[in-house]
Amino acid sequence: MPETIFNLTREMLDHTFAETVAPDREKLLTCIQCGTCTASCPTAYAMDYTPRQLWRLVQVGLREEALNSQTFWLCTNCYSCTIRCPRGIALTETMAALKRLAIAENVKHREKETIASYYRAFNTTIRRHGRNHEVEFLLRYFLSTNPLHALKFARLGIGLLLKGRISLLPKEPKNKHEIDRLFQASLALEKAKEVRT
Ligand code: SF4
Ligand code: SF4
Repeated sequence: MPETIFNLTREMLDHTFAETVAPDREKLLTCIQCGTCTASCPTAYAMDYTPRQLWRLVQVGLREEALNSQTFWLCTNCYSCTIRCPRGIALTETMAALKRLAIAENVKHREKETIASYYRAFNTTIRRHGRNHEVEFLLRYFLSTNPLHALKFARLGIGLLLKGRISLLPKEPKNKHEIDRLFQASLALEKAKEVRT
């Protein structure tokens, strides 16, 4: 991925940005640009800025550029970068903070709605059944994005159904109210984080 060169001006820089999004700004500023995070990231290939490049944008305070990037939308929260970063920087949390800030500031991005629909469909399915039910999850996702895309996966889906690898009807969990309580607690935590951000 080619490096982008910026002609920096004072107006372009927000020196408080790292403080806003990084749980530990001082640590983020110690990033040595080694690239271990990028090398560990399973979705870096699809990002416009690699994780290493994104940290540099945050470090120098290129707020607009960082918030308009698709990188944090493609972060799967796998924690590989966080575990391997030699500086011990809380990278996954910083990705999540960028997502929250972009949502709070209503930053438009073509990936945003698709990814948000994906998460919504997944979370709703898990909340309803306590585990993923592939048929319902994908139906929810395609109906909220582009139902025609479902046709591309129809053959695969039918094959999996016929082989018994997936089922048409979900199994209902015994402890449904416990799962619901977990979701409510997690939503309350997210709300608290939004207020802090
Ligand atoms: S692994 Fe850590 S130190 Fe290395 S580039 Fe990524 S954030 Fe910076
Ligand atoms: S947590 Fe996000 S940025 Fe870090 S390696 Fe995983 S997908 Fe990549």
